[in-house]
Amino acid sequence: MRAEDTPLIRLEDYRPSDWLIDTVDLDISLAPQQTRVRALLGLRPNPAGQPGAPLILDGDELALSEIKLDGVTLDANAFAAGPQSLTVHAPPRRGFTLTIETVLDPSANTKLMGLYRSSKVYCTQCEADGFRRITYFLDRPDVMSVYTVRLEAAKAEAPVLLSNGNRVATGEVPGSDRHFAVWHDPHPKPAYLFALVGGALDHVREDYVTADGQQVELAVYVEPGKAGRAGWALDSLVRCMRWDERVFGRNYDLDVFNVVAVSDFNMGAMENKGLNIFNDKYVLADPQTATDGDYASIEAIIAHEYFHNWTGNRITCRDWFQLCLKEGLTVFRDQEFSSDERSRPVKRIADVRTLRATQFSEDAGPLAHPVRPRAYKEINNFYTPTVYEKGAEVIRMLKVLIGADAFKRGMDLYFERCDGTAATIEEFLDCFAETSGRDLSHFARWYEQAGTPTIVASGRYDARAKRYTLDLAQTTPPTPGQATKQPVVLPVTLGLVGRDGDLPLTTGSSAYAGDGLIVLDQPSLSVVFSDVAEAPIPSLLRGFSAPVRLELDLSDADLLRLFSADSDSFNRWQALQSVATRALVAAGRPGTDRAVLLAKAAEIAGALEHFLREQGLADPAFAAQVLRLPAPADIAREIGGDVDPDAIYGAHRNLSGAIGQALEATLIGLRDTLATKATYAPDAASAGRRALRNEALGLIAIAAPEAGARLVEQQFSSADNLTDRLAALAAMTLIPGEAREHLIGRFAEIYASEPLVLDKWLMAQALIAEPGTLDRVKRLMQHKGFSLGNPNRVRALIGGFAANLTQFNRADGAGYEFVADMVIALDRTNPQVASRLLGSFKSWKMLEPTRKDLAQASLAMVARTPGLSRDVADIAERALA
Ligand SMILES: [Zn+2]
Repeated sequence: MRAEDTPLIRLEDYRPSDWLIDTVDLDISLAPQQTRVRALLGLRPNPAGQPGAPLILDGDELALSEIKLDGVTLDANAFAAGPQSLTVHAPPRRGFTLTIETVLDPSANTKLMGLYRSSKVYCTQCEADGFRRITYFLDRPDVMSVYTVRLEAAKAEAPVLLSNGNRVATGEVPGSDRHFAVWHDPHPKPAYLFALVGGALDHVREDYVTADGQQVELAVYVEPGKAGRAGWALDSLVRCMRWDERVFGRNYDLDVFNVVAVSDFNMGAMENKGLNIFNDKYVLADPQTATDGDYASIEAIIAHEYFHNWTGNRITCRDWFQLCLKEGLTVFRDQEFSSDERSRPVKRIADVRTLRATQFSEDAGPLAHPVRPRAYKEINNFYTPTVYEKGAEVIRMLKVLIGADAFKRGMDLYFERCDGTAATIEEFLDCFAETSGRDLSHFARWYEQAGTPTIVASGRYDARAKRYTLDLAQTTPPTPGQATKQPVVLPVTLGLVGRDGDLPLTTGSSAYAGDGLIVLDQPSLSVVFSDVAEAPIPSLLRGFSAPVRLELDLSDADLLRLFSADSDSFNRWQALQSVATRALVAAGRPGTDRAVLLAKAAEIAGALEHFLREQGLADPAFAAQVLRLPAPADIAREIGGDVDPDAIYGAHRNLSGAIGQALEATLIGLRDTLATKATYAPDAASAGRRALRNEALGLIAIAAPEAGARLVEQQFSSADNLTDRLAALAAMTLIPGEAREHLIGRFAEIYASEPLVLDKWLMAQALIAEPGTLDRVKRLMQHKGFSLGNPNRVRALIGGFAANLTQFNRADGAGYEFVADMVIALDRTNPQVASRLLGSFKSWKMLEPTRKDLAQASLAMVARTPGLSRDVADIAERALA
């Protein structure tokens, strides 16, 4: 299908459904190639809809085998059925039942949407619109129904049968090798939250009692033999359930909560009511097969999906334009959970790195869109960093603006008022407007306007009057479909840093909200602080209080003082990043003097040396973040136009190498001090020490390859955990030669039977910034562990390559051609994975002219391909526009 032939769905065209489905009784008889689905729908006219309207149910590649109305087979001329829809022309103008039977082939479903069978497990993925691949339905989130599901399967093939809600019956099917289970979910829900799982699975379980005394049976299901790796996920589940009770006052509401890990999954995980289905990458963990980063993401994603039980399931979205209502809010909630479980500043730094790398780059390119899009052709393409990460930033700003107390009361009001409904952003914001007594209509612009705002700030000190004036101005660049922008509401948290720390803030300005908060809601404003005893250095956007770019006219010397003296940890980190960014932006442009960069390296190394000596051991996780320079891709985005990836990478390598050389002795000493003989534990403190040791190893590898290779060998051989082994491998990828190839081989031997670890091995190689990498990636596609049919393998190898700044953006265009070919090949079987991969082209317009032309040609080649999916056609069309 061509994207231009696909109708554009617009927010302003929303109208309620003409029909409602109060109850759904599903009877699903599972078989690998022929699964029979019998749906009994309890329908009634929607009082808010059009009386006498026909009933039009959605379908997707369906075949109808039977249809009955109130138990009587429908006349052939009373309905029309095709793969994409089922219409009953003149249904009764009262409540009635419809029985629909469809037959599916789950084994042939390579799109992994709807019901599919892979690795011998039946499972479903219905968000956004996969349920219509199972039966004809009003597949829209504002149609909410009570489900009863009977599952039947061969006992040997699927001893475990799970669905949403509580299990109410089980039994044998007489005279056969089959059995059944009946599940009932008392909470009305939209079809996208339906799920089933059938297969031979192991599990771990635990009893839980909620704060209001309800008994809940928790279980995590995994492939046979992997139960030993499910403990961390279960432990994380218990912790996040307690946290949600304590912090948001939310209790769980069913007798069981099941998590199932499957190995073929398009997304990270899915919050189906009472039956969360996960990509196994976000469940399975033990020290030998998961890194510290994996432990942290498992904890965060288990929490995220669990938190959806209230923000997403109990209160769902009226339509898919409101996706950020559940996603932005739930990301905010999981970020808060991880901050409480681990280090808040370190979590914030990590989240801001992700935001800038994924969302700022999206906002700056042709795929930019508002947090709440106004129109879409394919909703699957809007599960984006903008909806998720920027959506979470909007909630965070709301909390800063109205204060923690009004925010808490607003959340309570939202849970009380909207429970059991399909809500909108307006209804959500109304709750906070009420509890804070503020007009939030201007703030709501964050949901409508795309693009990353820039704040330009400058300050001047009047020593005689002891006055400090801070000028702030905001602009937002044009984005597709939004040529002119309005000012947004920006909470700017600040301090004025003097010789001995923060100076008191005294001002009569109406923009000053107290507690170090300025609200910038106009194009520009000035705030005058009085009684300022000395010339201060402004520390702006503390804790990254708004998702913006900041241009501040501070000297490197002032930034380095903030790095050592700011009371805000985030801004300490940011200050040093800003010095490095400035140096790399200058060096990444043609014609710059290498000596200037090296002088800057010496300055940064001096500051780091002092920091590591004085405080490196106090909070190693923070120190690891400090030691990590901005990535080459960050510098490319910062430069923004006429980008030459090779020049940027070269500058980055020079700066890192020079800093590493200056710090070599310190880094080696630090590694020795941080070494431990204790056995591996995944807690945040131990992970922080490993992070700092491994960050140091990376710098040494660049600065002193021989010493680096020796340390890598030692670490790889003596490590008792994957974190240290993988860090050794990653450091070695920076050092070309025999030893590297040998280590790559050893790693593959050790983990030959561990697909999730081999993913990391594939990705480490795909990210090597050398011209040989494209051939290496093509070779690795022949590896017996690789398969184009598995989304995790594709994302590791092909996705890893597409994230390789210098090699994806090769000057000869071969990187673009390769990824474009892969997109076309994948689109035939799994359009969602293909369109995500095509999203790698999102920054092509900022490249220098030669690469830009080549990238455009590859995009155009994809766009011209006949028979493209709607997913891929939509991305190609928007990327080229
Ligand atoms: Zn989510």
